[in-house]
Amino acid sequence: MKRPFVTLPQLEKIVRDYPTPFHLYDEAGIRENARRLKAAFAWNPGFKEYFAVKATPNPGILKVLLNEGCGLDCSSLTELMMARMCGVSGHDIMFSANNVPAGEFRLAHQLGAIINLDDLTDVDFLRQTVGTIPETVCCRYNPGGTFTLGASNEGFQVMDNPGQAKYGMTRPQLTAAFRQLGELGAKHLGIHAFLASNTLSNDYYPALARILFQTAVELRRETGLHIAFINLSGGVGIPYKPDQTANDIAVIGQGVRRAFEEVLVPAGMEDVAIFTELGRYMLGPYGCLVTRATHFKHTYKEYVGVDACAANLMRPAMYGAYHHITVMGKEDAPCDHVYDVVGGLCENNDKFAIDRMLPQIDLGDLLVIHDTGAHGFSMGYQYNGRLRSAELLLRRDGSVQLIRRAETPEDYFATLVLD
Ligand SMILES: *Cc1c(COP(=O)(O)O)cnc(C)c1O
Repeated sequence: MKRPFVTLPQLEKIVRDYPTPFHLYDEAGIRENARRLKAAFAWNPGFKEYFAVKATPNPGILKVLLNEGCGLDCSSLTELMMARMCGVSGHDIMFSANNVPAGEFRLAHQLGAIINLDDLTDVDFLRQTVGTIPETVCCRYNPGGTFTLGASNEGFQVMDNPGQAKYGMTRPQLTAAFRQLGELGAKHLGIHAFLASNTLSNDYYPALARILFQTAVELRRETGLHIAFINLSGGVGIPYKPDQTANDIAVIGQGVRRAFEEVLVPAGMEDVAIFTELGRYMLGPYGCLVTRATHFKHTYKEYVGVDACAANLMRPAMYGAYHHITVMGKEDAPCDHVYDVVGGLCENNDKFAIDRMLPQIDLGDLLVIHDTGAHGFSMGYQYNGRLRSAELLLRRDGSVQLIRRAETPEDYFATLVLD
């Protein structure tokens, strides 16, 4: 049973000041979860989570995570600028991008960020762009093929396709990159890989860690370089559906520890720090999209029109992703109606839910669309001239802080060049 982190009386109060639709974030939930992650990896003295800024790029959220000891993982110029805006610099920033424009390497280097190179050609490109190779630098590895975990009759628990992914270097390229970086003055090397997305399994990080730890031992033997950190990147998932089981981050931390003790410790590499770049896991469940039922339509199906649309949350339209919906005030009412819950875009994929069993919805009901805290607002767009919504932070003391105002038509027209 999925419950919203906000109650109907709380929402009724919020909508008096902020009209729907809006994204709402839960500070208490974000903090508790960040502490669970930290505790799960406390066995590793160098552990650090670099929150993937692209998941929820808002300083109001980033400052909460920074305050919990996280760093920031940036992948574009504006994300680097936002990190700078939050007062973050040096090794509290990881810059993991691909097809990087020169200006982004320049700013990343200026800020002192750890730069994660996506390709062998980036070694030269970085050196030419910033004039030097930093002492600490990271390379992204792509082992190719398919990545699977936990075969069963129903298929694989986790399956993804690194061989079709544009990211990272092949194994021989990784050795070549390390050698070149070493010759150009790099002293402390890191290895990064992202092999599967939104994994609902406690085994993903441990399996990935084992691959990267073994690779680290080989690379040290081949190049003699100091491997300072292993970056497990993102990919730890969340249960979007009510019947799915959440990952247990404590179990995940212990699984990574076992691999660490079996592979790195015997090789005399116990000083290696573990880094993560989680986005979805850090924020997904701690944000929701609040919208209101505004229209009903009875044709070949029963439609509920709401005042949010795919421009506010693209995942259902783009990936067919499931997002749970709670009709506020009817949490315990029987789900005996079948609805398509739709937005107003002139696109038939603008549906938050298709054939969803829900309680009877009345005009004006507030709907909470769950798990929009990561890759929700940030994927928004302006198709059909629909504008991006506000973002609100529900503070620990129950107060509400506007952390981004809703767009206005003036924002939409601001980039036009009129004569
Ligand atoms: C998107 C991304 C992440 C975060 O992924 P999640 O699935 O949100 O955990 C981390 N690292 C890199 C390089 C990414 O591109």
